[in-house]
Amino acid sequence: MDSRGYAMTAMSFLMVLPALLLVAVLFDISSIGSSSVSTNLASDAVLQTFNDVEGDIPILTSHVLMEEDKRVIESGESLSNSRKSLKDDLQEELNSKYELYGNSTGLKVKCQVRAVDSSAEPFEVEVNTTVWVEKGNVSHMENLTQEVSITSPQCRVADPIPFIKCKYYGGVTNTTERIIYGSSLENYLNYRGVTNVWAYENATSPLIIKKCPYDPYKSHGKSQGFIILKNCIDNGYFHESSDGSCFLCRLEGKSTCPHYGFETFVVPAPSPNNTVNSAPCSSDHVIFNDTNGVSGTYPGNHVVYYKNGGYYFELFLDNGHQNKYGII
Ligand SMILES: [Zn+2]
Ligand SMILES: [Zn+2]
Repeated sequence: MDSRGYAMTAMSFLMVLPALLLVAVLFDISSIGSSSVSTNLASDAVLQTFNDVEGDIPILTSHVLMEEDKRVIESGESLSNSRKSLKDDLQEELNSKYELYGNSTGLKVKCQVRAVDSSAEPFEVEVNTTVWVEKGNVSHMENLTQEVSITSPQCRVADPIPFIKCKYYGGVTNTTERIIYGSSLENYLNYRGVTNVWAYENATSPLIIKKCPYDPYKSHGKSQGFIILKNCIDNGYFHESSDGSCFLCRLEGKSTCPHYGFETFVVPAPSPNNTVNSAPCSSDHVIFNDTNGVSGTYPGNHVVYYKNGGYYFELFLDNGHQNKYGII
């Protein structure tokens, strides 16, 4: 080969070089493209799974609330630390659900329950969790605070207080909607030295915790013939109350607590006579107030909210409660 031949080879190499570079660059771009496509797919899967876990937490919380509530009302034994019991229960449910989750797809889920506590809204419970989802080199971690209703169709809980307080005084029975005290409430109040308790022989109170829709509460007493008060009692509603205990403290057998809670009426059996003017106040947090062995039960005045067949349907309410419900 002469020198011209070499020159030609070098020349053709130079001519081919841009084409080679172009191929290299295009190859690189396409491999970046495919890795970003797979990253996007992974991040879609991670976010979708995160959303699923976020939606699951309230459902599992409702489940553990109902389970602990059932245990307490069946045994009459209060929980010593309801927040810890519920936190541990929820952690266990999440672990068993997500331990093996997504193994086949390479997804990993971890969920740590930081706290289960009372909410500022008394008919809700606050759940704090840390949720972590990973797939390949994509991960998402978030601290969640969720308010879980205790009065939704998915979460029906019974008031545990009557079952705990009356356990050793004859116990209570219940229909699907009401707690029936027989003589146990009278026995419990007598034992504590409370007077005029016979009005509570065969008293009843609501079983399932339901939030009263008649708001403002003063409408109860201001309505024509106390019709709203009667509807409220017949439906077994509960009312927001800074004196009544929250649901988590009720599971611990406390009728009062520092949290914003709720109260309901303990309703005396209809009476054929109208002669008793005073008996323990019918708000449940007053009836069951035996905190630290000190009786916080005080009397209320006779309020007849309905008459039928010679029977008086009545409550006993102090001035504070009469005012709250618009009766005076
Ligand atoms: Zn009401
Ligand atoms: Zn409380």
